Amino acid sequence: MYKYDSDEFMKNLYEGVYIVDKNRKIIFWNSGSESITGYKSSEVFNSHCYQNILKHVDKTGKKLCFEGCPLQNTIETGNINENDVFLEHKNGHRVPVAVKTFPLYDDDGKIVAAVEVFTDSRFKEIQYYENQRLKKIIQIDPLTTLFNRRYLEIQLKNIRVEANEFASTFGILFFDIDHFKNVNDQYGHNVGDGVLKVISKTLKTNLRPEDIVGRWGGEEFIAIVKTSDVSILEEVADRIRKLCENSSYKSKNKVIQVTISVGGTLYKPKETIKSVISRADEAMYESKETGRNKVTIK
Ligand code: GH3
Ligand code: MG
Ligand code: MG
Repeated sequence: MYKYDSDEFMKNLYEGVYIVDKNRKIIFWNSGSESITGYKSSEVFNSHCYQNILKHVDKTGKKLCFEGCPLQNTIETGNINENDVFLEHKNGHRVPVAVKTFPLYDDDGKIVAAVEVFTDSRFKEIQYYENQRLKKIIQIDPLTTLFNRRYLEIQLKNIRVEANEFASTFGILFFDIDHFKNVNDQYGHNVGDGVLKVISKTLKTNLRPEDIVGRWGGEEFIAIVKTSDVSILEEVADRIRKLCENSSYKSKNKVIQVTISVGGTLYKPKETIKSVISRADEAMYESKETGRNKVTIK
């Protein structure tokens, strides 16, 4: 009558799924049930769920096997029940589970069994944090905690599509630390890393919240500035330049300050990301050539 034990899909769900007959005897137990409860199918098959397994309790500690079993209720009434309960893992500890019970009918419409689907209540939460962790790995530069180049490239692509569609524009600022090699040569790579972190923090903290800043590579950074006004772009660039000049890396008895050269430009209708970035890069080089610690807008 039931084909579930041959159903690979049911077997491989992360949810626990088990089926009891009218007497609450377990007749199907999937791999999700095994991983949530610690019991193998062979250990529970043909036993009654109110026997020495799972021993569901609710949050008040009420033992549901003997009073208020959701499966029993579904068998008796046909109701679909949803409950937050705690099962006992094979190892003895309690696991919070969200439980749903459904009736199964025979051809004459009589209830012959009930299915319980249950998930570890922490699953969604754990998944959320796992997703956050993965997102960080994919989007964030580990040294500076700024967005990485990959993320910037995706954002640039998206903002270009938007600009073309709505006939709007945006600004790009290209930042490069001046004589950074000297910092490494003079104080060592670790201090260099510390300086990169300080400059990154100044960039992140002082750009406007709607703007996006990330590490393009080495000691180079890019900001996507949400403006169509070249004077605002210049204002933002010069404010950041001055703030970087006045930022300090402190370690023991050392205080190290660096300056940055900045190049900026507005996106032109339909041009490629490559072309707008290289114009910002050229502008930055002009700042280098004309003395460094400068802003050039092209
Ligand atoms: P300029 O003013 O012309 O930009 O001079 P510069 O010395 O900054 O330019 P250059 O491109 O020659 O040197 C960049 C240096 O940045 C070289 C490289 O070792 C250093 N660098 C790149 N990434 C890192 C990093 O993650 N940590 C540290 N400490 N140094 C880095
Ligand atoms: Mg450089
Ligand atoms: Mg440099």
